[in-house]
Amino acid sequence: MAKTFLHFINGEFVQSHGGRTFEKRSPIDNSLIGTIHEGGKHEIDAAVTAAQAALHGPWRKLSIEQRAEMLYRVADEITRRFDEFVAAEMADTGQPKSVMEHAFIPRGAANFKAFADTVKNVATETFITPTPDGKGAINYALRGPKGVIGVICPWNAPLLLMTWKVAPALACGNTVVVKPSEETPATATLLGEVMNAVGIPKGVYNVVHGFGSDSAGEFLTRHPGVSAITFTGETRTGAEIMKAAAVGLRDVSFELGGKNAGIIFADCDLNAAVDSAMRSVFLNCGQVCLGTERLLVERPIFSQFVAMLKERAEKLKVGRSEDKSTTLGPLISKSHQSKVLSYYENARAEGAMVVTGGGIPKVSVDLEQGFWVEPTIWTGLSETATVVREEIFGPCCHVAPFDHEDEAIRMANDTPYGLSTMIWTRDLARAHRVAAEVEVGLTWINSWFLRDLRTPFGGSKQSGIGREGGVHSLEFYTELRNVCVKL
Ligand code: NAD
Repeated sequence: MAKTFLHFINGEFVQSHGGRTFEKRSPIDNSLIGTIHEGGKHEIDAAVTAAQAALHGPWRKLSIEQRAEMLYRVADEITRRFDEFVAAEMADTGQPKSVMEHAFIPRGAANFKAFADTVKNVATETFITPTPDGKGAINYALRGPKGVIGVICPWNAPLLLMTWKVAPALACGNTVVVKPSEETPATATLLGEVMNAVGIPKGVYNVVHGFGSDSAGEFLTRHPGVSAITFTGETRTGAEIMKAAAVGLRDVSFELGGKNAGIIFADCDLNAAVDSAMRSVFLNCGQVCLGTERLLVERPIFSQFVAMLKERAEKLKVGRSEDKSTTLGPLISKSHQSKVLSYYENARAEGAMVVTGGGIPKVSVDLEQGFWVEPTIWTGLSETATVVREEIFGPCCHVAPFDHEDEAIRMANDTPYGLSTMIWTRDLARAHRVAAEVEVGLTWINSWFLRDLRTPFGGSKQSGIGREGGVHSLEFYTELRNVCVKL
């Protein structure tokens, strides 16, 4: 049965002023999942007003320990309602149930626990300062919340990415207005129920649904009552949001696009490297910012690597999320499917050798209207080819050979992006050398997507601004104030 997704403002589920709505369709078969209320100026105003009242009201009065305690309860409630979160996100994204159960939904709860732990254990600095009278002064720093944080989210791992922002923001005493992606309204809405159930004060967590430009997203970034904006999404959207944030000089934290390279040396554990490449190219149907769209493979193992990758990619099985044999879900939307297929065409036109895929897979009649594309591998393109340069965000990669370490580093860095890389080699000295030279925020050696939530996360170059994770999140979500006491 089709659902209705309402805004969550000041602790209540509300319709849009004027009742404006839009449709959410299933990526699996294009069936109608539900109707989403579209927010505009009116809803953003109401949400920011509620968030400001909560900021200066009950939320501010809680001690750090009390706030952390509430966030542990949020984590526990997500875990208690685990199956509902899995079902909601599965319906929105169409991805296999196993990915939701083992990767994305557990991280929703883990984010709240991790940042509750962090704020409880953070210290600030103190200095004893000499003065001319010899009596001295004490300087100490206080950390306070920044204010109302605007949180703008993408669709590729909705709960994981949203709570990665909401959890530290709340842990630091801020309040939030979240604008989820228009493609994935479900888990942000469900989190509203969780907040009420555990007693988070009204107005601390608000959700307004809608689109970006000339809709809830843009109105949120332009609202003068918002103190800072944290955003995950495309690099060009980040540039638009930065312009809006410049009015009032609001701070931004950006996690943006990537065109990540995996560097595979001939001495690697080949089987493990191919397994990892499979995951990093095809997990979530390639819709992972940290995913690998460029594989650089040392020439002696190039042909064998490509053959092994092809064999495994051809075993991926598309299907419904609940089907245990499904290993590849659909893309998020019809328009994203068209975009990815246009890159598949472009690769052919620019002379790629199509190792496998390149089109729409054969599916059963009930899935024919879904947003499927084949897992696709190319070789033979130059470094200037469009699919080697632009982020595609689909289940595809180009594999290129290299002869020397320096050449691999040069190729990996030949991109305006700088999000992540993975390096596969048994030579640890080389691994460290290469890691120090690749211009990215995150490097995995002999692994991929192994995360510790206390570590700094973010991209360099056009892949982001700032770092979040552990104490690094405090830099963005708190205002540091100095107090000087003359003795
Ligand atoms: P997107 O930029 O199209 O949209 C993201 C969000 O921004 C949506 O909620 C959208 O409604 C909103 N938005 C769009 N225009 C806006 C505007 N002018 N003002 C305010 N809000 C606006 O991105 P997407 O397609 O949802 O997500 C895919 C992108 O996200 C990819 O580029 C991917 O690499 C990136 N991403 C990055 C990370 C990271 O950690 N670096 C993580 C996940 C996704």
